[in-house]
Amino acid sequence: MSIKNINTLAVTAGINKDAHHGAVVAPIHLSSTYALKGFNEKRQFDYSRTGNPTRALFGETIAELEQGSVGIVTGTGMAAVHLICQLLTPEDTVVIPHDCYGGSFRLFTHLAKRGQFKLIVIDQNDQQALTDALAQKPKLVLIESPSNPLLRLVDIEEVTKACHEVGALVAVDNTFLSPALQLPLTLGADIVFHSTTKYINGHSDVVGGVLVTKTQELGETLAWWANCIGITGSAFDSFLALRGLKTLPVRIKQHQENALQVASFLKNHSGVDAVYFPGFEDHAGHQIAKKQQSGYGSMLSFEVKGGVEAVKKLFDNLSLFTLAQSLGGVESLISHPSTMTHAGMEIADQLEAGITQSLVRISVGIEFIDDILADLAHGLEQSQK
Ligand SMILES: *Cc1c(COP(=O)(O)O)cnc(C)c1O
Repeated sequence: MSIKNINTLAVTAGINKDAHHGAVVAPIHLSSTYALKGFNEKRQFDYSRTGNPTRALFGETIAELEQGSVGIVTGTGMAAVHLICQLLTPEDTVVIPHDCYGGSFRLFTHLAKRGQFKLIVIDQNDQQALTDALAQKPKLVLIESPSNPLLRLVDIEEVTKACHEVGALVAVDNTFLSPALQLPLTLGADIVFHSTTKYINGHSDVVGGVLVTKTQELGETLAWWANCIGITGSAFDSFLALRGLKTLPVRIKQHQENALQVASFLKNHSGVDAVYFPGFEDHAGHQIAKKQQSGYGSMLSFEVKGGVEAVKKLFDNLSLFTLAQSLGGVESLISHPSTMTHAGMEIADQLEAGITQSLVRISVGIEFIDDILADLAHGLEQSQK
């Protein structure tokens, strides 16, 4: 029986596959090395940087969920981004969105400064800018949808089609939605990647990454590089991330239910100037979200009335929300992109990307909704005093 349902795929990964002891849950294989059967007689695994059973199971499971061929587990999400850069030479051009994850922005701009490739930074919803960038015949185009922290959406299918016409590879950062809500490979992308630190692990206790390719060939090239440069993830982290993955669909369900209520609450609050949430009909990307996502996710951002002083008062008066970077864990987190996640970007670049001093980002957790709303209500009331 071939199973396609994501809830079942996530739960059944590695279950009852242990031929040796019949362990129901797949064990953690911590051994760094594997004995050969005899002279020049290798088993499936020989050395854990190259391949490890626990990591392989996690990678195969994500590849299955993303409907791709090869899943490569990396030590961090940034390692997955860096792995993609191994495909580039100094003659190649890369196109990235102006509002991509701060760490990705920093990596691409600094590697470009060192001459490792040419870089074009654009707003991918600006048709002219996209056409001009593609006229340069880029080797790689990075898409991040929804973007961080303003939840801007890019039509993955349409942009990918245009990229393929000029021979560019398309890599999509799917961290904000997870395979439970968006499947970029089915929309045409060549590579999808995640910071598994976020929704996939979901418990804020692992830093990790994963990358899935549509074709076997590209997957083998990148797996070769992952072993060569030594950025593969650990067995222990793979075990934890796989355990987290089992509840991904049910966590996402609760995250989304809560996020919808938080977004509506903020929209109607007098201390809030604007709310960025793709679930709203007046959000610029709402139609794209409806088309390519199976839910609106649980990330949102908003502008607090009164600028940075009001933001500080809001943070000082919250008790359920934790002021911290990161996202996608079961607990609700709040952050100030300008001084936190996007601090690696020059202020001018931040403003160009729409990141103001009064912008606040929330990762809505799965706590009881009334407690979440009460905390926000109290914080916002104090912020306006
Ligand atoms: C966190 C994050 C990354 C980087 O992942 P790490 O695990 O922190 O290295 C990349 N993209 C997005 C959208 C992220 O949120």
